[in-house]
Amino acid sequence: MASGTPTRTTCPYCGVGCGVLATPQEDGSVAIKGDEQHPANYGRLCSKGSALGETLSLDDRLLYPEVDGRRAAWDEALDLVARRFSETIIEHGPESVAIYGSGQLLTEDYYVANKLMKGFIGAANIDTNSRLCMASSVAGHIRAFGSDTVPGTYEDLEEADLVVLVGSNMTWCHPVLFQRLLAARERRGTKIVVVDPRRTVTAEAADLHLAIAPNSDVALFLGLFDHLDRMGLGDSAYVDGHTSGLAEALGAARECGFPGALSATRLPAEQLREFYTLWSRSERVVTAYSQGVNQSVVGTDKVNAIINCHLFTGRIGRPGMGPFSLTGQPNAMGGREVGGLANMLAAHLDINSPSHRELVQAFWGSPGIAERPGLKAVDLFRAVGDGQVKAIWIMGTNPADSLPDADAVQDALRSCPFVVVSDVTRTDTTRHAHVLLPAAGWAEKSGTVTNSERRISRQRSFLKAPGEARPDWRIICDVAARMGFAEAFDYRSPAEIFREHAALSGIANDGTRDFDIGACAELSESAYDMLAPFQWPRRQGQALDDATTRFFAEGGFYTPDRRGRFVSTPVALQAVSPEFPLILNTGRIRDQWHTMTRTAKTPRLMSHYAESFCEIHPEDAEEAGIAPATLMRIVSPQGAVVVRALVTERQQKGSVFVPMHWTDQQTAQGRIGAAVHPSVDPISGQPGLKLSGVRIEPFDAAWYGFAVLRNRPEVIAADYWALARAEGGWRIELAGAEPVEDWAAYAADLVGSGENLETLSYSDQDQASFRLATFSGDALLGALFIAPRPVAVSRTWAVEHLSAKEIRGTERLRLLSGRPGADQADPGPIVCACFSVGANQIAAAVENGAETVDEVGQSLRAGTNCGSCRVEIRRLIDAAALKKAV
Ligand code: SF4
Repeated sequence: MASGTPTRTTCPYCGVGCGVLATPQEDGSVAIKGDEQHPANYGRLCSKGSALGETLSLDDRLLYPEVDGRRAAWDEALDLVARRFSETIIEHGPESVAIYGSGQLLTEDYYVANKLMKGFIGAANIDTNSRLCMASSVAGHIRAFGSDTVPGTYEDLEEADLVVLVGSNMTWCHPVLFQRLLAARERRGTKIVVVDPRRTVTAEAADLHLAIAPNSDVALFLGLFDHLDRMGLGDSAYVDGHTSGLAEALGAARECGFPGALSATRLPAEQLREFYTLWSRSERVVTAYSQGVNQSVVGTDKVNAIINCHLFTGRIGRPGMGPFSLTGQPNAMGGREVGGLANMLAAHLDINSPSHRELVQAFWGSPGIAERPGLKAVDLFRAVGDGQVKAIWIMGTNPADSLPDADAVQDALRSCPFVVVSDVTRTDTTRHAHVLLPAAGWAEKSGTVTNSERRISRQRSFLKAPGEARPDWRIICDVAARMGFAEAFDYRSPAEIFREHAALSGIANDGTRDFDIGACAELSESAYDMLAPFQWPRRQGQALDDATTRFFAEGGFYTPDRRGRFVSTPVALQAVSPEFPLILNTGRIRDQWHTMTRTAKTPRLMSHYAESFCEIHPEDAEEAGIAPATLMRIVSPQGAVVVRALVTERQQKGSVFVPMHWTDQQTAQGRIGAAVHPSVDPISGQPGLKLSGVRIEPFDAAWYGFAVLRNRPEVIAADYWALARAEGGWRIELAGAEPVEDWAAYAADLVGSGENLETLSYSDQDQASFRLATFSGDALLGALFIAPRPVAVSRTWAVEHLSAKEIRGTERLRLLSGRPGADQADPGPIVCACFSVGANQIAAAVENGAETVDEVGQSLRAGTNCGSCRVEIRRLIDAAALKKAV
């Protein structure tokens, strides 16, 4: 792509699926803008999307194939993969091999991977990290609708009178969609209710926050179902005409009723009543839900408990109404469409149906077809561990960190006879690979993705793949050809794969299946190139730019009797043991994505939270002897981690929250997946990533440290460390369990030493406190601050010194003190990552008269791009007002 020409593509992060304009610049950088024509975002991007251009560097990129840790030619690597997979199949059968994919794969990649495994290898051991994200929604949809259908669209969130967000921190996890919702609230007074045990930033922005007890969502919605029935709000025409199974499901709801919901959720009765009244009185209700619902051992029941209420009132498939699953990943939906989960077939066909299997096998012309569902993610890695699966190919994901009981996953990979990883970068998973295959990254590959509202968009390449990296679909087809299936995998372009996928969706469909993009079956290469975002279904003969589609307003479900099914959902509560009395909840934070393989590359995105943390209620912290900002250990039967204590009343007593993102690449002892219990929802197979029993204890630190460094250290000698990129270098938090004898020697190892360097240092008599700054010429090489307690240093200010060309005289002494002088600006911790605005700057703007978030935005630009930090700005304004009042 010529520099200066924008390419229309799609953001690779969350399921909102924002359109992006990427413009390569002459200096090699890439300018990123939101695509005003894309119907998901109309030009907006969040902090992660806006920073995409900063994540394209080649550091840590895999550029060449590797076999057993040495560089190899593509032919050698591909031959080996094909040979080892074929031999394993011959010796141990098709179920002895597996593929583990990712919602980061494009639909075309997913399609050929699924075709290879289910059609040509003949087993269904292909699963994906989407299992961790929304499998419970898939299972709930299939139970209620007979198909994995998201009935509504994003417009529904804008046309609703009431939007209930269940287990969704939408402000941070689907930021652009949340901004659309807030804009709609401004226009039409939409009420927003957040159901979440934590007081998240989304909860703070809501009209009503229901801080339910963990995992009590089913009881909440059973109580609502019962309430709707008592109020006579059932839509009998809809229920009689289009549904089945009401009596049993309603029986369970009546059994629970208001008292059951009250006792399970532990909400104040008034609040519960207020919610039920609000839901009852609002004809246009959208109940949107995300990981807080799905990542539970009763996730599928939670989904059905929500759907029951919508079916009962007929509030589904009409503008502003319906249950709405928000997917985490950019192409979780595309993976579902091609059957990239172990319990699905391609094109939303049913792997348990002989006629569906026959249809797919005939279409593919394959020698056989998987006759039963394969192993779902957690079971799949268990099977790797116990030797049932002897060869696994992991594509574009990092299960060594992201799966529950992550240490056991690492052990399983270590013991597996043959591990292939195709990825863009090195991760904790690639360490275990016998063969590493360099895959093309976001900017380099072409295909399609589907967002949460069933909208298919093109991802287009705008950079040449570096080194010898290749697109995933190409790698998979090359292996398939070497396994003897060349004819069936002889694709020349992603467009060709997409056409086949579209054709399969339309075969023998005639409206009997939800997923149908038969209209794309004859798309030419140029039409594929130009393809504008469209929503499915688009059946043969239908125009792609047809109006918005919704499902089920007039029934027409995909069950055998075409009726939507009520599902009876029992109340399930979270039990904790005396040994592990707290509930560990894991989740995402605003500026990070998955295991940080991309987002950790940009200092801007590392400035909001530069290390992992544990949100903990003050009473729990006090009881455990954990002081704010100290380090704490979280222990479960599976493993232990060490993270920073963030003591806050936003966290409910009895639960703790830790972000899912940090890995061994960025921190010591901080992989939270290692402490997560591997129990799963029995229907969906989705792990309960938010509900592990743990205990907490202080980390007994003899010393704490903070350092800013121009160069990345090769070794960090500390029991605890967290390393993050900063403008001009790196920043590290440190701590040790044992005293250090010689801080000067320690600093020389970490910061660097040499005759041409100038070093200033200070230590108190017993060496409990130590500070050092080393300069190379006029510029800072590094500074280290050590104290017996968490180090009090203005971190953003200290980091700024890494980019300063000249630091001299008193400025050097000030740096050593760790605090700016009264005449110097200290931005404080970064709040707005889009414009790098810190808390101290916002406080100063408030001091100077800014009273609203918009006024802060006018003075500093903070909160005026993606808006994800607006609640945090509001918090600072309120805190300043409170301070003034006191
Ligand atoms: S909301 Fe942000 S992360 Fe999600 S698709 Fe849009 S720009 Fe990307």
